Amino acid sequence: MIDIGANLSNPTFSDDLDEVLTRAQEADVEAIIVTGTSVESSLAGLQLAEQHPNLLYATAGVHPHDADSYNKETEQQLIALLDQPSIIAVGETGLDFNRNFSTPENQRSAFEAQIDLANRYQKPLFLHERDAFDDFYAILCANKNDAVKAVVHCFTGSESALKAYLDSGFYIGITGWISDKKRGANLREIIKYAPLDRLMIETDAPYLTPQQTGIKQKLVKKHRNEPWTLAYTAATLAECLEIETNELISRTKENTKNFFSL
Ligand SMILES: [Zn+2]
Repeated sequence: MIDIGANLSNPTFSDDLDEVLTRAQEADVEAIIVTGTSVESSLAGLQLAEQHPNLLYATAGVHPHDADSYNKETEQQLIALLDQPSIIAVGETGLDFNRNFSTPENQRSAFEAQIDLANRYQKPLFLHERDAFDDFYAILCANKNDAVKAVVHCFTGSESALKAYLDSGFYIGITGWISDKKRGANLREIIKYAPLDRLMIETDAPYLTPQQTGIKQKLVKKHRNEPWTLAYTAATLAECLEIETNELISRTKENTKNFFSL
């Protein structure tokens, strides 16, 4: 399995990252893409990827929460990062109108600027969208070159949003959200509309611990999700699609390798 999104540069992992990686590998997680959410965390992700070749890769981008800080200097720093072979995507970028930690206006312009970077440097986009479908989709359609691939990570949206993304050729990232009894109910219902060749799996660790029984008790640090839980998300997703977990795992892995050119 490949975890397409884990926030391993988060300080909660700084004490015991090697053990976290060992546990992941013991649970058949062969590679992890470290999510960049700011210039600092993207730089930290790059360092981790360079320290763990073939196990860790990283993305470089500015999360919509941090969009207020996006400026010309940020852009230059991202460009330098995108030159590095371990940086395999632009992101995470997108729009989050759920909490508006940055103004919607700044979110839109930072998003457009990063789509531009993906176009220029021909890297896939790792995308975040929450409560912002209309603007998000319109900005992507207006700015993204057809040749640039895009994955909407941690998809939790509506059936119509899912269908619009699929119609546009985007990929869908599924997290432990799918196992949440209440919040994941709609996702479990609609995810069957996604063809198997457009799905990828992720933990979004340290967030979104899968909700299956027994996982919480096994976490080494309370409330800190780890990449080893990925198999649980694979199993629940396979159940929703009415296929064998092994098939889900091999297909999502193939999709991930193609998508990120691993
Ligand atoms: Zn996100």
